[in-house]
Amino acid sequence: MVYPIVKWGDPVLDREAEDIKEKDFDTPELNQLIDDMFESMYAAKGVGLAAPQIGIARKITVIDISTGERPEDKLVLLNPKIIHLEGKQSGEEGCLSIPGFREQVSRAKRATVKAQNIKGEAFEITGEDLLARAFQHEIDHLHGKLYVKHISALKRDLIKRKVRKLVKAGEWL
Ligand code: ZN
Repeated sequence: MVYPIVKWGDPVLDREAEDIKEKDFDTPELNQLIDDMFESMYAAKGVGLAAPQIGIARKITVIDISTGERPEDKLVLLNPKIIHLEGKQSGEEGCLSIPGFREQVSRAKRATVKAQNIKGEAFEITGEDLLARAFQHEIDHLHGKLYVKHISALKRDLIKRKVRKLVKAGEWL
């Protein structure tokens, strides 16, 4: 099923997500949730989605920088941690939870992540450029952090003001 995407302002996006526990791995419920997350991400035309963005404060993120073009690009990261960052890149970044806005965000060029798969097996993966950006953006979500934390307070306030207007107009649902 396609979940609606939770928007900036909802407290679920600001809190630390909970770890996936041993008993939750390899269950039909977890498999279903991950399928639904991919479906929701593709429906929203995103390249990454973190569980808090569908209102579930758990450490799950799905990523596919090919947007459904290459099955081998589908990534599921459970309880992910960034263990190494290297270099620097600057580029435009957006977020499904802050639709209609994009800003330049500086990130590490390469990121290595340690995570668990659906079965609970640990693995490491290194990404560059867009994939590294997706790792950093999505894992931030699991710690209650949105990309606007990485831009200037001035720019952040500007977006906040525009969002407040949209909320008042009933256009931020
Ligand atoms: Zn996001």
